[in-house]
Amino acid sequence: MGVFSLESVIEAFEASTKDAAQVQRETLRWILEENSEAEYLQSLGLAGRTDPESFKACVPLVTHKDLEPYVQRIADGDFSPVLTGSPITSLSLSSGTTQGRPKLVPFNEELVKSTMQIYRTSYAFRNKEFPTMNGKALQFIYGSKQFMTKGGLTATTATTNVYRSEQFKHTMKDIQSQCCSPDEVIFGSDFHQSLYCHLLCGLIFSEEVQLISSTFAHSLVHAFRTFEQVWEELCDDIREGVLSDRITMPAMRDAVSKILKPNPELADTIRDKCEGLSNWYGVIPVLWPNAKYVYGIMTGSMEPYLKKLRHYTGSLPLMSADYGSSEGWVGANINPSLAPESATFAVLPDIAYFEFIPLSENSEDQELEQSSSTSHNTELEPVGLTEVEVGKEYEILFTNVAGLYRYRLGDVVKVAGFHNSTPELRFVRRRSLLLTINIDKNTEKDLQLAVEEATKLLAAEKLEVVDFSSHVDVSTDPGHYVIFWELSGNAREDVLSNCCDCLDRAFIDAGYVSSRKVRSIGPLELRIVKRGTFQKILDHFLSLGAAVSQFKTPRCVGQSNSKVLQILDDNVMDNYFSSAYD
Ligand code: AMP
Repeated sequence: MGVFSLESVIEAFEASTKDAAQVQRETLRWILEENSEAEYLQSLGLAGRTDPESFKACVPLVTHKDLEPYVQRIADGDFSPVLTGSPITSLSLSSGTTQGRPKLVPFNEELVKSTMQIYRTSYAFRNKEFPTMNGKALQFIYGSKQFMTKGGLTATTATTNVYRSEQFKHTMKDIQSQCCSPDEVIFGSDFHQSLYCHLLCGLIFSEEVQLISSTFAHSLVHAFRTFEQVWEELCDDIREGVLSDRITMPAMRDAVSKILKPNPELADTIRDKCEGLSNWYGVIPVLWPNAKYVYGIMTGSMEPYLKKLRHYTGSLPLMSADYGSSEGWVGANINPSLAPESATFAVLPDIAYFEFIPLSENSEDQELEQSSSTSHNTELEPVGLTEVEVGKEYEILFTNVAGLYRYRLGDVVKVAGFHNSTPELRFVRRRSLLLTINIDKNTEKDLQLAVEEATKLLAAEKLEVVDFSSHVDVSTDPGHYVIFWELSGNAREDVLSNCCDCLDRAFIDAGYVSSRKVRSIGPLELRIVKRGTFQKILDHFLSLGAAVSQFKTPRCVGQSNSKVLQILDDNVMDNYFSSAYD
């Protein structure tokens, strides 16, 4: 793809959303024709039919677990058409932080294509309101380890697959945001060294930087927390023109040393600016005066980092990036001026075939992990893309050309409105329950709200929750909820004891409240962990092949994640039990 015009991208998007229902039918036909040779489809008796009715009648709803045997065969080197017409030649590792281990999913060039389509679409809309000039981007992006499966396929995270692709490089040129850092930094195998060099390259090109971004907001906050620790060393490097000896990887050293020249003037400016800040408030616009906005996924499990991010960005706008997954993309943020808390994603009707399972308010949340292909008989009838209703919540399903058919992504979305005839979705939460002991039901969102409520008690102490997680402890009778907090400093015991009571009271689900009252759930426990504990959890996931770019802190840690639970437990400094229901 050469130079492209923003108008043509918007026109194509407008055209495909005018009659989204028709585009969906064509997209389904295209996917089923492309993959008509796939063993999976053939076994379901579609016999060449490509209409939505036959498709729905023949093809069951599936979760990742149902597809695992097929993906495993591919990984083991079965080059017959298993899930797709043309064999899958590489796999992606999805973050899988909730399950405790990354999951393998099919990857092909079509996914890169749809990723670029999403990037261009949201950029075209963003650029109308917040134009960026030809310049650079300080992107905190990181490739992850690549490994070979038994069958000789490469497997790495989807973001790495994308960053390595030629299409990505072309698109980035098109959208005028060349990364400040050389590839050796992005793909360096030591995350800490890459992060340091990203910061250094960003400072070297500080006048040219037009935007600051990362895939998920977590990496942005992590980067600036690190900046607070290493800024003086960065200044020294710039002053002397010599890279810190903490960078030991030869390729990274060479590549960064080429762009690092002694610049005492820049070093002095950075020092003055940093020393002039109050508690790092607004550091980003101060150091990158030409940056127009900060960009990354800020919705869903990233919301807890917004407060800290706003502290660093001061008055610079935050723009929430698009919605998708390793398995495939869903929608683009075409309303960039909405605050991240209200961000919506317009579904692109030509990148996949979408269906939505309506969730009624009292609908029992099935444990996704337990449902299997027999969910064929589910009483909840999925509806089509254009049949969803504004204000209602749905679990999202998609079918795409990378070999996923009626795939339950595990996310709950709410329809905020329509753009032409395609819905604009708000991300609500992961579908699965996080905390449940008996009749209580609490999701990731409920936990987030409870933590937000209790955190207010810390504000007066000028303390923050750096990160948090939870656990259901049923080793005691009755079982109880455990919340882990890493704090930015030391808090008084009475404050933390109040936070603990507040957390307990903040779970307002009727099942929890009644169980607490009759003591069939014990008092909530708040465990305070040492500084750096969540860094250890990140390092643990990286050692399993996860990517920083896709990292999401596991918000609930169970036995399937015993290593993480052990890290948390080994670092507990204090614990408190709630007296909220005494
Ligand atoms: P991964 O497993 O790394 O491919 O992550 C995919 C998951 O990340 C999705 O299923 C969502 O739960 C979450 N996610 C991706 N994009 C967004 C977004 N824009 N807002 C909220 N959550 C998102």
